[in-house]
Order: sequence, then C-alpha cells, then structure tokens
Amino acid sequence: MFENLSERLSGVFDRLTKQGALSEDDVKTALREVRVALLEADVSLPVARDFVKAVQEKATGQTVTKSVTPGQQVIKIVHDELVHFLAGDEGDIGALKVDNPPAPILMVGLQGGGKTTTTAKLAKRLQEKNGKRVLMASLDVYRPAAMDQLKVLGDQIGVDTLPIVPGQSPADIAKRAKQQATMGGYDVYMLDTAGRLSIDDALMTEVEEIRNITNPRETLLVVDGLTGQDAVHTAENFDERIGISGVILTRMDGDGRGGAALSMRAVTGKPIKFVGLGEKMDAIEEFHPERIAGRILGMGDIVSLVEKAQETIEAEQAERMMKRFQKGRFNMNDLKMQLEQMLKMGGMEGMMGMMPGMKKMSKQMEGAGIDDKMLKRQIALIQSMTKKERANPQLLQASRKKRIAKGAGLEVSELNKLLKMQRQMADMMKKMGKMGKGGMLKQAMK
Ligand code: GDP
Repeated sequence: MFENLSERLSGVFDRLTKQGALSEDDVKTALREVRVALLEADVSLPVARDFVKAVQEKATGQTVTKSVTPGQQVIKIVHDELVHFLAGDEGDIGALKVDNPPAPILMVGLQGGGKTTTTAKLAKRLQEKNGKRVLMASLDVYRPAAMDQLKVLGDQIGVDTLPIVPGQSPADIAKRAKQQATMGGYDVYMLDTAGRLSIDDALMTEVEEIRNITNPRETLLVVDGLTGQDAVHTAENFDERIGISGVILTRMDGDGRGGAALSMRAVTGKPIKFVGLGEKMDAIEEFHPERIAGRILGMGDIVSLVEKAQETIEAEQAERMMKRFQKGRFNMNDLKMQLEQMLKMGGMEGMMGMMPGMKKMSKQMEGAGIDDKMLKRQIALIQSMTKKERANPQLLQASRKKRIAKGAGLEVSELNKLLKMQRQMADMMKKMGKMGKGGMLKQAMK
C-alpha cells in the first residue's frame, strides 16, 4: 500500500529537512514535487491541487516552533493535511452502526470488486471482535455460484447464512433475511447484493428497492482500490443514487498507487471504513486516517516529535540542556529532568518509538523490566538525594546510598543501577557532543 508515493515523498522531505532555514521558494519547490507525487499516485488533479494549496497556506501562516527545524514543521503540516483529506471534518471515522438488533448492513458494489469476500470478512470480524451474532444472505439471484460462494465462506468462518431458496427475487430474499434475523435473535444481518460489470439502471433500481425494504444501518460500498479514480467515480454514482454510509477499499495489499484512498473522502465526502488487504478472511483492517497518513509519509518519527515538541518541550530549556550535555555535564538533575520529560512524552515506549532506530531498543528495555514504573522509582530516588548529591553523584558512598534508598523506600541495588545509568548517559552525552550535528539527541531536540 502506498509504497511508491511514500518513497517519492520521503525523497522530497529528506531534501527539505537537510536544510537549516527554508525560504518560501524551498517550500514551493517541495510542494510542487508533492503535487507531482500525488498525481502519479492517481490522485485526481483538483484534489492534489487543493491539497497543496492548503499546505501552502498553513506553511506560510505559521511561525516556526523553536525546537524543530522548518523542514520538520512542513512535514507535520503535510501530515495533518493528509489526515484531514483522509478523514474529512469529522475526524475519527468510528465503527459500524450495529445497534438496535437486528441491524441490517447492505453491501453494494460492482462485480469482482470483492463484495462477497468482504461481506464474509466483516461478518467474521463483527462476530469475533464485537461479539455480534451475524446472519449473511446473498441476493445475487443471477449467479447461483455467488450464493454458494457466500455459503462456503460462512461455513468456513462459522457465520450463519440464510438458506438458499431457488426462484426468489432479491426483494423476497431481503424480506426473508430480515424475518429470520429477527426471529433467530441475530444482532446483525448482512445483505450481499448482486453486482454488475458496470453501473446500470437495473442494478441501481434493484439496490434501491432492497434499501427501501430493509432501511439499512450501514450501506457499504465495496470497491477495488487498484482501480484508482474509477473507484472514486463508482462511489460517487452509488452515493448519488443509493446513499452510502461508507466505503471499503479492497486489494490494498496490491501495488496500487493509493490514489483512490486519498481522493475518496475529498470527492465523495464519504469515509473509507475498512481496507481489504488480501484474500484471507482476516485480511481486513479498519481505516485509520492517522495511521494511513503515517504510512504514506513514512515520517511518523518526525511528526510525533514535532507534535510533542510543540506541546511539551520548552525550547530554551532544551537548548540550555543541550549545551550542558555537549560539555559532558550530565548530573542527577539532568537525569531527573530527562526522566520526567520521558514520562510526559508518553513514557518509555513513546519516547523510544519516536527516535529513529530506537524501536528495537525499546523492546529490549521492556524485556529487561525497564518501564514507566521504573522511571517513577528512579525519579523518587533522585528526589531523595540532597542538592549537593544531585549535582555531584560521585559523592554517593555506602552510607549515603543507604539513606537515599531508604528515603525512596527502595533497595540500594536499585540506586546502583540508577547511578550506572547516569554515568553511562554522561559518557554518551560527551561522545554525542563531540559527534556534533549528527548526534542523536541533538537531532531529537532540534
Ligand atoms: P464480488 O464479485 O464483488 O463479490 O467479488 P469477490 O468477493 O468474489 O472477490 C473477487 C476476487 O477478489 C476473489 O478472488 C477474492 O479472493 C479477491 N479479493 C477480495 N478482496 C481482496 C483483497 O482485499 N485483496 C486481494 N488480494 N484479493 C481480494
């Protein structure tokens, strides 16, 4: 999903972050490249244009936060705009409406888009993840094989299907499904309608009739994500005629260019609710605009860093600390500040996840029992030290150690670990200070 677009964009942004100060021209050039990348991903021209315009406006209007580079800030703006394009104004897309049992879900779409497969995938999900009892019914009276297909899938995943009665019309089957769902105590019943190769009036009339009979809680359009802008047109058509509540994009596991996902919301105003990621029954995922934007940009580290920097780091304080670190000064006060900062920034895991290449280390630390509780214990130990001791940890000999550990209600061994950590960090700071620009901490705090 989105590999090509992601690659293109990361090239653009790599160049951008490498520069210190950004001129308006730099930003313009970068955004022009973003536009080309979007068009290549089969995003429609008006959408790409609107996107770039929105970013441009925000980028020029915003003052640069002190603790991040202008390039990083532009990436954050692009990211937020991507989320906005993917999610629309309401922000979160939320789950399916399946209250008031039995809740009807109408599945619509063209033939071959993945409708039957997706019906079964969703049914399985609703049953296993949401604990709903689901009944599926195929209304495809034109292709008996389609009815059998749904039954086979149902048997495979343990979801009931409405018994097949040859000769019934789609409207009759819909009525029977409703009845059976009510009598059988089902929470949800899903109607897998017949598709056509292309949109025609007969298809729409039939779906309309079924919609009127069942009054669905959700009308989900299933479209092949590989078809790019065609998928968006199909959604527009269905929405105009039937009124859809959401879209499911299938085949997003393929090397599609992602344009359908990006234009769908902007063009149709309807949310993408799920994406299909393969033929297996579990290959379906909720569509999270934040996550998808992160995947497209491949810059999650920078985005969250800028966010957190804007929220929590006071630039002056960070800079002052930086200077101290570069000189290799790192005492218990610094460590305490770091530990507190880490807690604020979402704890150990959050912090490590943000630094490039630190994810693995975070796992290792977790394995070694280093977690948020430990951060708090360490802070308690430092609090139990005198001012002098904090500034000069070398002072800590056996008796002082005992007193401090006791004060924090912890063992001396724990204090020893803390001291070792402080020494290691002081060493690391010294080395990074020497490394200068390439230093991890400096980059992270910039
Ligand atoms: P329908 O005619 O719309 O009901 O389409 P089907 O459900 O029969 O699906 C057509 C084909 O697409 C089947 O071979 C499915 O296994 C496949 N398919 C459906 N969804 C996905 C998906 O998300 N990824 C991939 N790779 N294949 C899918």
